[in-house]
Amino acid sequence: MTSYILAIDQGTTSSRAILFDEQFDIVSSSQQEFAQHFPSSGMVEHDAEEIWHSVVATCRKAIADAGINASQIAGIGITNQRETTVIWDKSTGKPIHHAIVWQDRRTSNYCNELKASGHEETVRDKTGLLLDPYFSATKINWLLDHVDRARKKAEDGKLLFGTIDTYLLWRLTDGASHKTDATNASRTMLFNTAKNEWDDALLKIFNVPRQILPAVEDCAAEFGNTVTDLFGASIPVLGIAGDQHAAVLGQACFSPGMIKSTYGTGCFVMLNTGEQRAESKNRLLSTIAYRINGKTTYALEGSIFIAGAAVQWLRDGLKIIDDASQTGGLAAEADRSQDVIMVPAFAGLGAPYWEPDVRGAIFGLTRNTGPRELSRAALEAVCYQTRDLVDAMKKDWQGQKEESVLRVDGGMVASDWTMQYLADTLATPIDRPSILETTALGAAWLAGMKSGVWPDMEGFSKSWKLQNRFEPRLDEAKRAHRYNSWLAAVESTISQSKASS
Ligand code: ADP
Repeated sequence: MTSYILAIDQGTTSSRAILFDEQFDIVSSSQQEFAQHFPSSGMVEHDAEEIWHSVVATCRKAIADAGINASQIAGIGITNQRETTVIWDKSTGKPIHHAIVWQDRRTSNYCNELKASGHEETVRDKTGLLLDPYFSATKINWLLDHVDRARKKAEDGKLLFGTIDTYLLWRLTDGASHKTDATNASRTMLFNTAKNEWDDALLKIFNVPRQILPAVEDCAAEFGNTVTDLFGASIPVLGIAGDQHAAVLGQACFSPGMIKSTYGTGCFVMLNTGEQRAESKNRLLSTIAYRINGKTTYALEGSIFIAGAAVQWLRDGLKIIDDASQTGGLAAEADRSQDVIMVPAFAGLGAPYWEPDVRGAIFGLTRNTGPRELSRAALEAVCYQTRDLVDAMKKDWQGQKEESVLRVDGGMVASDWTMQYLADTLATPIDRPSILETTALGAAWLAGMKSGVWPDMEGFSKSWKLQNRFEPRLDEAKRAHRYNSWLAAVESTISQSKASS
């Protein structure tokens, strides 16, 4: 009888459940969006309870649509939006507050205070991360300080912390398993990635009680079993990895020097640096790519906070499009004589700038600027920012070959126009795989491999299939001119934000 693998892909804007068969083919999938809460400028929250219900509903639907029984599922792999911070009551499972999402900048001042107290170097040495609101540690601190009696309860052992994977696992196992994996732990800013353990000095800096933290496992491990009444049979959870790390796995970027870039709400570029934790001189992050069979593989990472989110803004904020997929067609018809440049720093700028307080700007508007030019500017901004990151990585990583390719995935790579412009901007071929659900595939691979249903790393690498390669075709002078205009626009945006703050 065929065995199936269920991937739970809990993203920033939606939850998905995807059922794979033994040939890595998708048998069924289900998706549900959930509410985004913006309590005030720079703040982003999710209701973890709503996320949990969306996960259960999508899993049930995927299983029902496939017409299979839960007992045929050999394992579950979870991949999740990272850093997003949930604290819940151990006895009821109820979150004490909305989850604070990775994009949220509310702890920006607190980060500045910690920097002024000289903690940045310790944090970077131990975690490979920069002291930024993005990571979980300062969000945990905020929740403990701002929710009534939370710190006391945490110290009394009544509360638990988790990133979304941990919260889902805890609910799936009805409180039996409070665990995470090394990749999610590496994004909390409390985990020593060289030693692979929670770090007492970091817990002290961020004032986080150790008893609220989950146990940390390999990415492929026996995390716990779902309670029977959820899906009709108990299913083992055998894989967990943060979304970008799962994409590295799903893209089979197993060798040092391989790069993957994922375009969802944000964009995340990761370069596999092998067993060495690279020290970035360009303010990139160094992170755990994955930990399998006790062996840690590291990566350099650069992130762009706003990628597809700029397209969402055109749709939901400006209301100049009805659907994200319209942007490519509009961009193709845009007037090239207008040099419209958008710096979509809605929530600050990420690597390599790290300017949390900067806000966005649009340059070069004329009376003729319309949806076409704005669509093009939004899509181009994503490509320019990718170049910012890849250029920085090339400076940090000597092992990377000049003629390397980029493996891409995420919702936005459906846009041929964007992928072609990306190839043009980077002067590098862009490889789009046949399975675009790379993140889910990576999580499924962990569970599939652990259960013995799917092949090991080598076998899985061989199965990776190209759908389309976009070759660069823009001439060098135009490429340089446009990128220089982008750099000038970023510089103006940063100095304007500083002047007005
Ligand atoms: P996430 O996992 O972060 O929720 P997805 O991987 O589902 O994101 O990608 C969705 C994002 O991609 C949205 O921000 C959407 O605006 C953008 N997007 C989806 N399709 C297209 C398209 N054809 N052209 C441009 N952007 C797109």
